[in-house]
Amino acid sequence: MLRLLKESLLLKKKHFAASIASVATCNQNFQKDVQAQTISLKKHLHDKIKTTGPISVADFMLQALTDPDEGYYMKRDMFGEDGDFVTSPELSQMFGELIAIWIVNEWLACGSPTEVQVVELGPGRGTLMEDVIRTFNSLGNTLKNISISIHLVEISLYLSNLQHKNLCQVNSDKMTSKVEPRLHYTLHGKSKYGQDMFWHDRIQDVPAKKFTFFIAHEFFDALPVHQFVKDNNIWKEVYVDVCTTSNFPNFRFVLLPHPTLACRTLIKPNEHRQKIEVSPRSGIIIEEIARRIAHNGGSALIADYGHFGSKEHTLRGFKSHKIVDVLTNVGEADVTADVDFKYLKEIAERCDVMTCGPITQQSFLKNMGIDTRIMMLLRNSDSEEMKRKLIGSYDMLVNPEKMGEKFKFFSMVNKDRLLNNEGKTAVTAFA
Ligand code: SAH
Repeated sequence: MLRLLKESLLLKKKHFAASIASVATCNQNFQKDVQAQTISLKKHLHDKIKTTGPISVADFMLQALTDPDEGYYMKRDMFGEDGDFVTSPELSQMFGELIAIWIVNEWLACGSPTEVQVVELGPGRGTLMEDVIRTFNSLGNTLKNISISIHLVEISLYLSNLQHKNLCQVNSDKMTSKVEPRLHYTLHGKSKYGQDMFWHDRIQDVPAKKFTFFIAHEFFDALPVHQFVKDNNIWKEVYVDVCTTSNFPNFRFVLLPHPTLACRTLIKPNEHRQKIEVSPRSGIIIEEIARRIAHNGGSALIADYGHFGSKEHTLRGFKSHKIVDVLTNVGEADVTADVDFKYLKEIAERCDVMTCGPITQQSFLKNMGIDTRIMMLLRNSDSEEMKRKLIGSYDMLVNPEKMGEKFKFFSMVNKDRLLNNEGKTAVTAFA
């Protein structure tokens, strides 16, 4: 579907078709390995817990998703109809285009700095970034004299290679594991539109001291959460233990009898819910982004499904577009939890940036002009099938019953951004 959409919008068809074909080949090659390895991940975790005792839900999630050899994200392309889930940038190019326009608007509002970094966390197949840089390119003169470098923060070398293939020029070099003073990256290349691109496995390795736009779509929901339950007025932590009744490696959730250190450090004294999830790793990354924005200028746009400090336990597994049990599908299913935007906002505000939102995806996309954009695309499309698909993906993105309300947009901007505009201009799309 994505390929047809792209074709209808007169993108570089050959590049795109070639990248899809190579993705399919990679997938086939890895399938057998993945199946064999996930069995060993399950066994490895089982043996570890049996030997050293239960582990936190956060530890379990971290290993299931990012174990260097066998984690879910490390060995496969899980996106699209044939995969486990479809994300907004994969549904329609309009999504990335409107994010590009948001960046350009904010860049103008910040006084058009001449050197800019664009950083994406968790880029998946690289589709969102491709739509962003293609849109930059189509703006011609506006960004002509600006030096833009692109930085992708990706933990999976498999997905980094896929992103490199999808985003870089065919003969672009692919240096690996280069460590230079102040610049540590795992891959490097030149984008199809000429920008320097760098891959990093941690945000801390992205060059600091530069004006930066950060984008993260469906990244924070993949970061580990601790789960807590209030039991007779005492907060206790949920852990993962082995099942002793079966011979095959199986797991179960248990409530530890005594409060853990995490109970004491991660739960606010005035917490009113009876069950909560906290993702301290998300907090650390938000703090890093916010500090960089406060010191060096820039903005962040974070989009994900989530809530504002209201939901209880949301952890779930996803496989073949269905919710599955996280404990039986270790390494074979995505493990995800709703993002607590209240938690992120409170951390960001302690770092001296201005925060906006969260607002719903429907509001963000409509404020960014998705209605006008779809009309243009429909006018330029000559096939009925294509028009039907465009309308279908538009509906999926904005309909409150689908992704329109569940997904939220949250932004952080440097406080000087308002001074630059005499305090008058609201942050793009968050007015
Ligand atoms: N943004 C993409 C993909 C979302 S899936 C989209 O919307 O289509 C989550 C992405 O985050 C994957 O690329 C995964 O490999 C990456 N990821 C997960 N945990 C990570 C971590 N701790 N550090 C860096 N990347 C991570």
